[in-house]
Amino acid sequence: MFEKILIANRGEIALRIHRACRELGIKTVAIHSTADSDAMHVRLADESVCIGPPAPRQSYLNMHAILTAATITGAEAIHPGVGFLAENADFAQMVRDHGLVFIGPDPEHIRIMGDKITAKHAVTELGIPTVPGSPGPITSDDQAMEIANQIGYPVLIKAAAGGGGKGMKVAQNDDELRAALPIARSEAKAFFNNDAVFMEKYLGRPRHIELQILGDGQGNVIHMGERDCSLQRRHQKLVEEAPSPALNAEEREKIGKIALDAMRALNYASAGTLEFLYEDGEFYFIEMNTRLQVEHPVSEFITGIDLVREQIRIAAGGKLGIRQEDIRFNGAAIEVRVNAESPFTFLPSPGRVTDYHAPGGPGVRVDSHLYSGYKIPPNYDSLVSKLIVHGKTRNEAMMRLRRALEEYVIGGIETTIPLAQEIIADNDFIVGDYTIHWLEKFLAKRD
Ligand code: ADP
Repeated sequence: MFEKILIANRGEIALRIHRACRELGIKTVAIHSTADSDAMHVRLADESVCIGPPAPRQSYLNMHAILTAATITGAEAIHPGVGFLAENADFAQMVRDHGLVFIGPDPEHIRIMGDKITAKHAVTELGIPTVPGSPGPITSDDQAMEIANQIGYPVLIKAAAGGGGKGMKVAQNDDELRAALPIARSEAKAFFNNDAVFMEKYLGRPRHIELQILGDGQGNVIHMGERDCSLQRRHQKLVEEAPSPALNAEEREKIGKIALDAMRALNYASAGTLEFLYEDGEFYFIEMNTRLQVEHPVSEFITGIDLVREQIRIAAGGKLGIRQEDIRFNGAAIEVRVNAESPFTFLPSPGRVTDYHAPGGPGVRVDSHLYSGYKIPPNYDSLVSKLIVHGKTRNEAMMRLRRALEEYVIGGIETTIPLAQEIIADNDFIVGDYTIHWLEKFLAKRD
C-alpha cells in the first residue's frame, strides 16, 4: 500500500479523497492555489504545497507544478479527483512516466473514452447499444442532412471532445441543421480546442441513467447498480438517486450484464461510469467517464462499497475484494448538489460563509469543504456541498432529505438549497416520474 498520496484537486472532492486516505493509514499531500490557502483540504492534509495563482490553468491544471509537488514531497501516487486533470490522458501518462502511480484507469482508456466518437465506436464493438447517429465526425453539410433524414429529426449536434453539457445544438429540420453546424463547430473549437462534431438522434423524453463500474485490471469487474441523474439544468445534474425509480430488477440485470462483459473485454481498471439515455425500456450509451463522479456517494450508500478506497487499493495492485453476486443493493439514496449560487437566477454567490451548520442524524452524509468563516473564492466551480441521504425505502430517503435540508444552515451566501426543497416537494419527484427535461420545465413554470 502507498504511504503518501498527492490529491490533485480542491473543494469537497479533495476532502473526500483525504478521508479515504486517512482511513487507509495513508499520508496526504494537498496542493492549492493562492486562492485556496485557507481551504479545508489544505488544513487537514499532512502536507501542502502552493502550486500557483488562482487561475486553474496556472494551478490545478498545471501538470508540471503538480508533478514537482509530488516529487518534492515524496508522494508515490496522485489522485486526480473529479474535473481538472481527472480525464486528461496526457497527464495520466506523465504521472506514470515520472515513476508515480496515477489513481485511475489506463491512459489509453482515458484517451478512447475522452473522445465521444471513438468512445461510441469502442463500446459498439464491445456490444453496448448507442444512440443512433452519424458513424463518425460530420464531414459536410450534405452528409449531415442525409444522416439526419435517415435517423429522423430532431437531431442533436455534439462536440466529440465535449463535456459539461456545453456546445450541444438541437436541429428540427434541414434549415436549422445547416445553420447550427458552423456554430457547433466554432463553439467546439472555442471550448474544447477540437472542432470535430457528430450527430445523434435527439431523444424526446429520456431519463439519464448511468452505471457505476469498478474494475481491477486483473480480470475482475463489478457494477454497483445505476444512478438516475435526470434532474438537470442546462445538462448539469442537480439531484441524483439510486436506484432509479424507473428501472426494474430485470432491466438492471440486463444492462449490468452487457456493461460487465464490455468492461471485462476492455480489462478496465479503477472506477468508471457508463452513461445512458433510457427511453421506452431501451438503453442508449452516450458517454463513459473514466473517473470518479460527483454523484458517487449514492452508489456507496446502497452497496456499502467505498469507491475511493477501492480506487486506491486497485491502483496499488490490489484485486477487487467483492464479486458481483455478493453485492446486495440496500434501500435508496438521494444526493442534492448544493451550489453557491442564487436559487432563482443561478448567478454565482461566492463570499464569506458567516454561519455553518451541517445536518446529521441517521442516514445523512454531507460531503463539503465549507466551515464557518470560510471565504468561497470566485475562481472555481460553484459546487460547495453534497447532501446525501439513505433510507430503507425511497420514501424514507425522501423524508430524510426533507428534514436534512431543513436543518442545513449556510449563512452569508446564496445557495440552491431552497430550489432543492421545491423540487423534492413536487409530486412528480415524489412519485419518481421525471425525464431529463423535467427540471427545465419546472423552472420555466416558476418564473
Ligand atoms: P457532456 O459530456 O457535455 O455532459 P453528455 O453526452 O453526457 O454530454 O450529455 C449530457 C446531457 O445532455 C445528457 O444527460 C442528456 O440530458 C442530454 N443529451 C445528451 N445526448 C442526448 C440525446 N441524444 N438526446 C437527448 N438528450 C441528450
